[in-house]
Parts: sequence; structure tokens; C-alpha cells
Amino acid sequence: HTRVAIIGGGFAGLGMAIRLKESGREDFVVLERAGDVGGTWRANTYPGAACDVPSRLYSFSFAPKHDWTRSFSPQNEILDYLRDCARDFGVTDHLRFGCKVEEATWDEDASRWRVETDRGAFSAQVLVSAAGGLTEPKLPAVPGLDSFAGTMFHSARWDHGHDLSGERVGVIGTGSTASQIVPEVQKHAARLTVFQRSPGWVLPRLDHPHSDLQKSLLRRFPALQRAIRSAIYYTNELLILGLVRRPRLLAGLERLALAYLKRQVPDAEIRAKLTPDYRIGCKRVIISSDFLGTFMEPNVELVTEGIREIVPDGIVTRDGRKIELDTIVFATGFDVMNPPHFRHVVGRDGRSIREVWDEAGIRAYLGTVVCGFPNHFVLLGPNTASGNNSALQPIEAQIGFTIDALRAMDARGATAVDVRRDVLERFDDEI
Ligand code: NAP
Repeated sequence: HTRVAIIGGGFAGLGMAIRLKESGREDFVVLERAGDVGGTWRANTYPGAACDVPSRLYSFSFAPKHDWTRSFSPQNEILDYLRDCARDFGVTDHLRFGCKVEEATWDEDASRWRVETDRGAFSAQVLVSAAGGLTEPKLPAVPGLDSFAGTMFHSARWDHGHDLSGERVGVIGTGSTASQIVPEVQKHAARLTVFQRSPGWVLPRLDHPHSDLQKSLLRRFPALQRAIRSAIYYTNELLILGLVRRPRLLAGLERLALAYLKRQVPDAEIRAKLTPDYRIGCKRVIISSDFLGTFMEPNVELVTEGIREIVPDGIVTRDGRKIELDTIVFATGFDVMNPPHFRHVVGRDGRSIREVWDEAGIRAYLGTVVCGFPNHFVLLGPNTASGNNSALQPIEAQIGFTIDALRAMDARGATAVDVRRDVLERFDDEI
């Protein structure tokens, strides 16, 4: 038995563990199915994997790092940062690796969660779901998917043992992940075909290495580091004015993106295919300085006719053209709306969160608590991820909310907290 069981050892779960420890608590465990911390940043190792949020902002506010090597951190550096945080904040002993949660059920009589894992059972007064949204690779429902005789894998399950050099490679998808993969694959493949369903808005990533002088200045003046972080955050927040209040304010940004597209892609025909027909910000903007230009390379083709089927030796487009391929890479995203985790969290009336959401819609008070699931806190729950800023801000806010709830329980001697239905409904209406 433990006071708090945290499911997931990524940014959210580790952050929760660290803040619990800092608030003087030791009775918690982090249940992580993999063998290491890192979550999304452990699982996504595709070539070019990096963060499109500036390094100065993409870190815990309570664990600033002065010596990021670049203005936009590569995946391995972020993973190392998380490992360092686990060690430096002393939460390593609380981590249970290789421990997959199979079911978590609220026991009303005992006022605690019964957590079944493949490494045995736990009970916990409080359950924190920090299982992440970008966990289940989504493959497109294309006929013939299983018939492909070549190699195929999803971006989040990159096959590092497979050499793409000299191959005919197809990449399906043109989201943020594809924007990082495509320029890397182009360098090695004999021929690269990118299958696009809808183009994304692209803004340049102003990536550069940090000099030793910059690093030492930030080490000596932590206030400067905080000021830079705030400046990036509030500049991004300004976008809210256009995204939520006055879409016309986004016109300037669209002009900037179109001018950038024109500079990167002088070919008018290819440029037309890469020009979005919707307002910037409807989908997360792609931040990349090498994606668009890749389509001007002689070994790259952008295909927009749509995929009719996958055949043993390639992909057939809707207009009947067969493109022969050795390898297909799916950069087709994740099942964000339906991660399996919520099918396994069963609340007061014997129903899972998934069942409750199927009936009432996906909602949670402050994106964190759901009626009928006492002492359960969801990190990065519904309506929390921001399209214009870092996911770490909502994560930290939700961690703070959870710590507050624990304090309130301690102060009142309460064994369980739940959100009132009317409060949840009012909040959801407002959202
Ligand atoms: P995504 O944003 O869901 O993009 C999936 C792509 O696959 C889209 O271009 C989509 O086209 C396409 N697609 C899906 N099904 C298809 C089909 N049947 N046929 C053709 N195309 C299909 O996934 P992602 O790029 O992996 O990104 C996942 C999340 O991670 C996003 O929130 C992203 O912002 C985030 N991310 C962040 C970073 C970072 O640096 N912080 C890096 C990578 C990813 P449509 O657009 O037409 O749907």
C-alpha cells in the first residue's frame, strides 16, 4: 500500500513524483511499463527527433538547465535531462520499471485504489494517471496494409536495424513528426515519396547551438534564464488572441508562412500542393527549417492524390498509379482520443473512464478530475494540451492542483475527494 501511485514515468509522472518528494512525501510509487523514464521522449527515437518548443521553455520550471546544447533540443538530450531529474531530485527509488498497469479499480469501502499490474498488486489512496496521449501508434485504415512485402514501421517504433540507404522509401503523413523525419530520410534514400493528405502551416525553426558564453551567463545569472523563459512563454501566449478571439490577427503570421514557403519551394506546382486551405493554428503549426526545402530535392516526390491501397511492392494512389517501395514509414500519429489506459481505470459505479466518456463526452474538471473517480488525477487530461505553447505548463499546473488536493485532504482528515457533477458540467460548458 502506498499513498500515491503514479502511472507513467514521462515528463508528467516524473514531475509529479519530484513535486511529491519536495512537498515532504515519501509514500509514492511510479509504475512504468518500460525499462526507463522518458515516456514520449524515450519511445520516439526516429532520425531528426527533436523538440519544436525552445529548450529554455521545454524543461521543468523547478529544474532549469543552463547548458542545453542548442536552442531546440534533440530527443536524446531531453531524455538525458529527464534521467538527470529523476536522479538529482532523488526519486529513482520510487520508480518501478517493467511494471505494466492492467487495471485500477476504486474500492469504495476501503477508500483506495486497487491497482493490478503484471508485477503484482498495489493499493493506493490516490491514483495519478500520467500515461500520456502519444502512446498508441495509429496506422491508417488503408486496404492491403498487411500485404506489403517490404519493411514497414511507425515513426514511434523506428527500426534502427534497418538501413534505408539506397532504398525507395515512402513516408505517409506530413505532421510535425514527418517534418523531422523527411529531411533525414531524403539524405539516404535513393528515392523518397511523401504521401500527404493535407498540408500543414510551416514556420522556420530558428535553431542554433548555444555558445559557452551563453551557457556560463545563464549559469551565473539564473534570473536571466527565467526572464528568457517567460519571454518565450508570453510571446507564444500572445497567439491566443488570434487563435481564440480574433482570427484576423493571424493573417500576418499566414503571410509570413507563405513567404517562407515561397522562398523554400520556388516550384509553383509543388508549392500549391504545400499551401494549406485553412486558417493557421487549426492544427499545430509545424516548426521546421528543413522540411519544405526537401521537396525541391531531385530524389523527392510529394504525392497528394490519396492512397487507394497498399500492395506487396508499393502503394497505389487513388488515380491508379503504382509507386514501388522498399520501405514504408508511417508518420501517421497516435490514437490520442482513445488511449487504452482509460479503459482500465474503473470508478465508483464499476464503469471505466472510457465508458463514462463514451456516454457523456470526454471531459474532466480542469482537465484533471472526473466525477465518480475519487482520488484520481489525470495529467494532460482532456482540453489541456496547448497548440501554441509547451505541454509542460499544463502538466505543472495539474501537478500543483493535485498537491493542493492532497493538502486539503490532510487538513480535513478526508479519505476521498471527488468533483461535484454540477461543477464539472459548468466547467465543461465554459470550455
Ligand atoms: P499527427 O500530428 O497526428 O500527424 C499525422 C499525419 O499523418 C498527418 O499529416 C495526417 O494527415 C497523416 N495521416 C493520418 N492518417 C492518414 C492517412 N490515412 N492517409 C494519409 N495521411 C494520413 O502525428 P505526429 O506528426 O506524429 O504528431 C503527433 C503529436 O506529437 C502532435 O501533437 C505533434 O504536435 C507532436 N509532436 C511534437 C513534436 C515536438 O517537437 N514537440 C515533434 C513531433 C510531434 P491529416 O493532417 O490530413 O490528418
